[in-house]
Order: sequence, then structure tokens, then C-alpha cells
Amino acid sequence: MQFTVLGTSAAEGWPALWCVCDACREAARRGGRDLRTRAAYNVDDRLQIDLGPDALAQMWAHGVDYSKLEHLFFTHSHGDHCEPENLMFRRRGFSVIPEDSLLHIYGNEHVARAIQFYMPALPLLQAEFHLLRAFEPVDTGDVRVTPLRADHAGEEEAFTFLLESASGRLLQGNDTGWYPDETWGFLSGRELNAVLLDCTYGLHSGGGSHLGAPEVVQAMAELQSLGALAPKARKIATHFSHNGAALHDELVEYFAPHGIEVAYDGMVVDV
Ligand SMILES: [Zn+2]
Ligand SMILES: [Zn+2]
Ligand SMILES: [Zn+2]
Repeated sequence: MQFTVLGTSAAEGWPALWCVCDACREAARRGGRDLRTRAAYNVDDRLQIDLGPDALAQMWAHGVDYSKLEHLFFTHSHGDHCEPENLMFRRRGFSVIPEDSLLHIYGNEHVARAIQFYMPALPLLQAEFHLLRAFEPVDTGDVRVTPLRADHAGEEEAFTFLLESASGRLLQGNDTGWYPDETWGFLSGRELNAVLLDCTYGLHSGGGSHLGAPEVVQAMAELQSLGALAPKARKIATHFSHNGAALHDELVEYFAPHGIEVAYDGMVVDV
């Protein structure tokens, strides 16, 4: 599995569209890994997690070939992760889609509602929608995808995905808060080869539906104690908000003693 981290920011992006805060100004000045688009992930062009407002720019930046996309999973319906309008452009007249292309779209009931307007047109978009249920795996061929329960977006059931293939296991975990017991239990003993966790609050402590750096360290230790990390597992923090303020180099410095990497747009995780 070649897992590409297309975007690593929280909702507003970083630098954010309208923001004049110091963190946005400094990120714009430094450029490079401090330029963060909205969170999304792609696996070998065939599978994607989330399709947000930055999908087009991410396609250009990281050479994603969406004509090959077969499985699109949504974590939840928040606008930084789910931009339904992008689906509409699959329609004939807007795009030329390979005749045999069929896109399977997966999400919770809120995602279904978010794309409701396009639902009747899904056959025209050469797409089908599948409702996800927590802990019920989806077999996509090479990769088995299991939606796990997160603690995020109280009004809806947000998911975090476990990806398993013959080559290894990866946990995509942003917009999670501290995992509920059933998710910790599910992960117990799974020997993950790579884990990405939410670090929305930067170096500050998290709260509610997001984590900060101290909780990322704590959550990685929890995974270790549950036997959920394979030897040499890659531990990665991602989904950073400008409100968390810590820039890439500061995050790297904080996490280095804990053996945790800091994600950046375009990071590739081979599992
Ligand atoms: Zn988010
Ligand atoms: Zn800002
Ligand atoms: Zn969210």
C-alpha cells in the first residue's frame, strides 16, 4: 500500500483564507511543509479517504490519477472532509469518464444527507453509495477497510479507518478525539505498521473532538500497551490547525524524542 497524505490541516487550511494570525503569516513566509491543505488520503490511486475542498489542488500537487479511483470513503460530513460538489463534476458534459469506471462511495448517514442532492444522479456519475456501519469491514479487493468509531462531531457517527492489506496495516486517525473503549478494544493486538493521529491543537492539550500533541504521545503509548503497534511502526501526527500555532519545525522538535513523525502535504507512507 502506498498511502499518500494529500492534506494535513484542520478545517480552515493553513495559512487560512482570511486569517492574519501570526501562525498563518509565519507559515506563508516559511512555505514548504508549513503550507497545509485540508485532510485527505489516497492509496495507490484506487482508494481515497475524504474528498474535500482542496481535492483539485491536491491532484495537481501530488499527481493523483482520479480516473483510477474505485473506492471513496468519507470519515464524516464536515465540510473540510466532504465537498459533495466535487462528485458532480463526474457527470458527462463536465468530465469524460472511462466507460467501465464505477466509483463506490462510502459514508455515514450524515454523509448520505450531504450528498443527497446528487443521490438521484449517482448512476449518471457512474457511482454508487454504500452506508457504513462501525466495525463492519468493507472488502475493496487488495485492501480491507474497517470503519472504527471516533469521538468527534457528536451529532453524527464519525469514523476513523483501519486499512489492512497483505503488506500491512495502517490506522488513519484524524477528527477522532480520544477513542471510545470499543475502538481501543478493536485495535488491541492488531500490530499496526503505521498510525496517523489527530493533532489539531498543536502543542496544546486537546479537548472534546480533537487531540493535541500531549494526547498524541499518550495515545501512541496506549496503542503500544495494547500490543497494537508492530515493531518499527511509523507513528505520525497530522491534522494541524493554525489555532494550534506550532509550525512544522517546532512540531518535529517536540515529537522527535517520542519517535513520532510530523505529517506534511505529500508525505508518502509505504505499508
Ligand atoms: Zn477535520
Ligand atoms: Zn491563522
Ligand atoms: Zn470534523
